[in-house]
Amino acid sequence: MYYNPCVDITRRRLLGGAAALALPVGMKVVVAGGHPGDPECGCAGTIARYSELGHEVVLLYLNRGEGYCGGAELGRCAGIRTKEALGACEILKARAVFAGQYDGRAVVDAPHYDAFAKVLAAEKPDVVFTHWPIDRHRDHRAISMLTLDAWWKGGKTFALYYYEVAEDTTMFSPAEYVDITAVEARRRAACYAHVSQQPDKWYPKQVEITRARGAESGFAQAEGFLRHPESRKAALPG
Ligand SMILES: [Zn+2]
Repeated sequence: MYYNPCVDITRRRLLGGAAALALPVGMKVVVAGGHPGDPECGCAGTIARYSELGHEVVLLYLNRGEGYCGGAELGRCAGIRTKEALGACEILKARAVFAGQYDGRAVVDAPHYDAFAKVLAAEKPDVVFTHWPIDRHRDHRAISMLTLDAWWKGGKTFALYYYEVAEDTTMFSPAEYVDITAVEARRRAACYAHVSQQPDKWYPKQVEITRARGAESGFAQAEGFLRHPESRKAALPG
């Protein structure tokens, strides 16, 4: 096989002959989401699959959900929702990282692009999943832009994929799928860890989505993803 010294080691590993997209050992996976609960809603099954296979997964939240936590006063929301996020991460065997913005007031400007890029670069990810940008929530659109900018400015060192969340994502057509049928119980538990977000209101909708994605891909339930066209392929749990 032709050796191209410009291709980074992860890509060489992924391109290695017949095992081209076999999962390499010790991948670092980051799932970026606007609020506590978003990475879980869109990707909990895939996160559970990665962590079961021994890969390291980080859930990177843009904020701590300061803007809403059910009936509790707003001043308590960051604490309540941080705790819920940590509980969800424990269920998924993932680690939580918070990017330090404020719920509902996402800022996308030069200093915040740079700050977010630093947080992401510190994780040295092999693959990053983020919100599809055409989304009803401004925080979701914000982290999608922040991730895309970090990826381009940083030389596309990781694979970049987009995911969908119930009710907010629009105009999304996935092309790659992960079978989440066997991890449904953990996926559900991780979503229901976000008690303050009343998961009964959105979890059934997300199950409708994953059943439809399953019908598209030949599984009972699947999460669907779209890879940025300039991104290398990542090994998704098969
Ligand atoms: Zn959200």
